[in-house]
Amino acid sequence: MKKLAYPCPCGGRIKWKKEKVVYEGIDCGVLDIEYCPKCGEEYLPEESMKIVEEKIECVECMLLSEEVLKKT
Ligand SMILES: [Zn+2]
Repeated sequence: MKKLAYPCPCGGRIKWKKEKVVYEGIDCGVLDIEYCPKCGEEYLPEESMKIVEEKIECVECMLLSEEVLKKT
């Protein structure tokens, strides 16, 4: 993965780190994230976002199938 260092809107420089990502209560594992050491803002790069989205979809269909099971 290409790691670009681009500036943050606050004027700081974005850095990369690996961190455990929990999105809306769903544990997405350790992903590459971008963060700004100056303002503390964290961003999810596209590739990590995709992993998060897949995880969420996975959990959603798991919940859905559980509901279906309860109904039947
Ligand atoms: Zn910043």
